[in-house]
Amino acid sequence: MKGFLRVWQGLDLEDIEKHLIVVGELSSDCFACRKVGIDSKAHTCPGCGVTFKYMGFRRHADGGYVHKMREELPHLTFIDFEDFKKLIGKREARKLLDI
Ligand SMILES: [Zn+2]
Repeated sequence: MKGFLRVWQGLDLEDIEKHLIVVGELSSDCFACRKVGIDSKAHTCPGCGVTFKYMGFRRHADGGYVHKMREELPHLTFIDFEDFKKLIGKREARKLLDI
């Protein structure tokens, strides 16, 4: 029997920043250029043209919803957007301390 659960994985933050679509309540946006109103099933950004490789969710997404998106978009890696934002925040804080 197969279950659908989240796993921890080491990923390249810079790669995520360049290829992330963030799904919100009503529409999605591109993390790289901040263009809003993108179809959540788009493969590329209509604003900057990047190919989406990762998908994050602005609102709480339950397992059933993510599973459905995954079946429709099997080429994407699904990340926890909160985790990602925390890591970016930590990295920026470290950059400030280095100065
Ligand atoms: Zn874009």
